[in-house]
Amino acid sequence: MRLNLHKPYAPIEPIVYKEWEQAGISVFFKREDLAHPFISGNKWRKLHYHLTTAATNNARVLVTFGGAYSNHLLATAAAGAKYGFETIGIVRGEAVKNPVLGMCNHFGMQLLFIDRTAYNDHGAYKEKNPVDDAYWIPEGGGGALGEKGMGELLEEVPVDFTHLCCSIGTGSSFSGLLYKAAESNLTIQLEGFAVIKGGEYLANGFQELNYKHYTYHTHSHGGGYAKTSPELLAFIEKFSRATGILCDQVYEGKMLYYLDEMIVNGYYAKGSKILVLHNGGLTGMLSLFA
Ligand SMILES: *Cc1c(COP(=O)(O)O)cnc(C)c1O
Repeated sequence: MRLNLHKPYAPIEPIVYKEWEQAGISVFFKREDLAHPFISGNKWRKLHYHLTTAATNNARVLVTFGGAYSNHLLATAAAGAKYGFETIGIVRGEAVKNPVLGMCNHFGMQLLFIDRTAYNDHGAYKEKNPVDDAYWIPEGGGGALGEKGMGELLEEVPVDFTHLCCSIGTGSSFSGLLYKAAESNLTIQLEGFAVIKGGEYLANGFQELNYKHYTYHTHSHGGGYAKTSPELLAFIEKFSRATGILCDQVYEGKMLYYLDEMIVNGYYAKGSKILVLHNGGLTGMLSLFA
């Protein structure tokens, strides 16, 4: 079996936001969130070559790992349904119910909950629990194939942008961008924003990709992964009301909160033209309204 995946619909659009205009900075979004409602943003990009490889290998089932609100689990569940694979999601922690896991199940994903200690060693889990005709996708959809798919979006970025912003969880999306930018001899400044505390551990891996033009902001985690503050929540609400674009509090809203602060404080030279990757993940917002 072979899969021919189309290029995702992910247009670039200007953002009208008074505070940024006043600072003399033009900001555009690359609407990766529009690629698919549930296989959104970087998850679509990262799954691309995993899916084509699974198809080439005649895999019957996709198996992968994620947390209880994982955008990657939901993307895999939806992609499995769309492209004809069964799916198994191995979920970190005790059995819970929430809207995201409910949707995974709705798409046909079988959910297996395992305790955090067992979860932490994916290799050992995989060895002890073989699945016939399986294609195993790394957590978050990363690995060399995931990074390759992610990096390709740079082919859709016009050369007049000075900066490209991307939020960072596992770091595989940003690695894919760095790798491809180096390979293509680009000079655009890649700006990575950590949404996890202790993200410094990713810095060496980024550096080894030998792309000179990047900055890794590790201070942007706002207290830790998925942690929120009244200020953050007020900002994402204000931003959505001003632009009509939703941004989740875990990834994109958090990046934007810090980006906004930096723009307003003059971090970026006047006249900069910034492209922000909107990597989707909007179902993460459902936890806010539960
Ligand atoms: C998964 C995800 C990220 C983080 O991507 P990594 O490759 O793990 O760094 C950022 N934004 C959204 C919306 C995501 O779903």
